[in-house]
Amino acid sequence: MNILIFGPNGSGKGTQGAVVQKKYNITHVESGVLFRENIKNGTDLGKKAQVYIERGDLVPDGVTIPMILDRLKQNDCSEGWLLDGFPRNPQQAMALDKALGEAGINLDYVVEIKLDREAAKNRIMGRRLCVNDNNHPNNIYIDAIKPDDSDGSIKCRVCGGELSVRADDQDETAINKRHDIYYDEVDGTAAAVKYFKEKDAGKGTVIIELDGRPGVQEVSEELMGKLK
Ligand code: AMP
Repeated sequence: MNILIFGPNGSGKGTQGAVVQKKYNITHVESGVLFRENIKNGTDLGKKAQVYIERGDLVPDGVTIPMILDRLKQNDCSEGWLLDGFPRNPQQAMALDKALGEAGINLDYVVEIKLDREAAKNRIMGRRLCVNDNNHPNNIYIDAIKPDDSDGSIKCRVCGGELSVRADDQDETAINKRHDIYYDEVDGTAAAVKYFKEKDAGKGTVIIELDGRPGVQEVSEELMGKLK
């Protein structure tokens, strides 16, 4: 089973990706993780990528495309993969499409989690982390999971624990930059999504579009219902 997953930062893509990966027991290939590993290990690729990543820019295609295509050729991908974070622009989409075609590899699903920019930003900036359990959902901007504020200060809605914010969740400039790239329908990730939707219409790849507005559980259920 070979799957591409798309969704803006804040859409719950990581969480849903983990659900898909578990269902099919396939290798999760995440471009961001590969870059971070290379940086940590001090490889040449990591050195080339670091400056772009620190600025929140895309790493040049000349570095990114071969890294991903090589990764997909490794043994642990032979039974299937879930590709996350790639492609992020039309050039990457075309390179992936060409490489899959040449290798005779079928793309089974394209999953797109749709969430408008304002909602995605609120998801990130409103997120509050419970000291007792990171998975306790708390978000000051989402009514369904608003923290408890009955005693004047906000506390975890699940267990009453103290809440904190992640520094990078509050960096509005960085969030905007990432979203600029994602929602760009000409040069960005939205264009890559479009490429696969148009190219594969009726050709065996199942396109799954999900409304990312409901909670994680509801989105997961919808996704599970649509995957064979
Ligand atoms: P992520 O963890 O997916 O948010 O990726 C972290 C960073 O890695 C991004 O902000 C980019 O700088 C870089 N990166 C990840 N995927 C790609 C890609 N497909 N093309 C170019 N740069 C990427």
